Amino acid sequence: MRRRAPFVPQPSAPRLWTRRRPDRDELWTETVGELPAVYGERWESDGVRALRAFEPARSKLAAALVRGWDGPLPRPGERWLYLGAASGTTASHVADLLGPNGRLYAVERSARPFSRLLRLAERWSNLLPILGDAHAPERYADRVPLVDGIYADVAQPDQGPLLLANAAMFLRDEGGAVVLALKTSSMGRGVSASEHLRNAEAALANDFDLDTAVRLDPFYRSHYLLGGRRPGGPRSRSPTPAFAGERDGRRGSRFSSRRAPRPARSRS
Ligand code: SAM
Repeated sequence: MRRRAPFVPQPSAPRLWTRRRPDRDELWTETVGELPAVYGERWESDGVRALRAFEPARSKLAAALVRGWDGPLPRPGERWLYLGAASGTTASHVADLLGPNGRLYAVERSARPFSRLLRLAERWSNLLPILGDAHAPERYADRVPLVDGIYADVAQPDQGPLLLANAAMFLRDEGGAVVLALKTSSMGRGVSASEHLRNAEAALANDFDLDTAVRLDPFYRSHYLLGGRRPGGPRSRSPTPAFAGERDGRRGSRFSSRRAPRPARSRS
């Protein structure tokens, strides 16, 4: 029987692991939660820890990592705020990266996905679901402390200002991180995707040292992940070796083969 390649921890995020396959590198997160699977993802054990496949076709954060994301990632023990958590597909992985001593404050405004998020939180002890509108952060200010990072994926035209309003209330000053999933098709017609990106970057550039944005095609058409940190704090920017090739001019090479993961509908 052929042995599987080992899981390899990633220095950029200690609870993120990769596993080499002939056609691509798989991403896995060390789980905080318990079975059953959140969205049908694979679970495996390496004998010490339980890991969950982090699928780029189901999560923009995983797609961004595959595409060479070098910006902020949640780290163990940190507190993050998540805007637009839906039923928790990506939020569960963010909570995994934060680990049992970290905390994820997950805001969702629609009742139906929120009820699934509530059930998820029964199995993810570090995830606090908040039913609320990210336009009105003052309404959940009693439940959210100062955080180390904010991840925003609300797929709305005003997602930049919405992120800034939440950062002004909750994000720590030095080195506080923001990560924004930008769905340019929700941001108005007659403007190209790259122009929407430039506008979003210009809106954030006053307050944050931005990292290079990555485009999420083919997993999510005309989406980007962008983000950065407030000046002054530690940047913890150690590279993710498994994806280093993607950042030095061979972007997508390991993932563009015939057997690369197929693009999916934007379900999350
Ligand atoms: N981030 C999720 C994931 O990767 O698993 C998918 C998020 S989905 C693209 C966008 C979500 O944002 C929807 O569930 C929607 O209800 C929520 N949303 C939109 N506007 C919002 C707002 N103002 N406040 C809170 N949630 C909002």
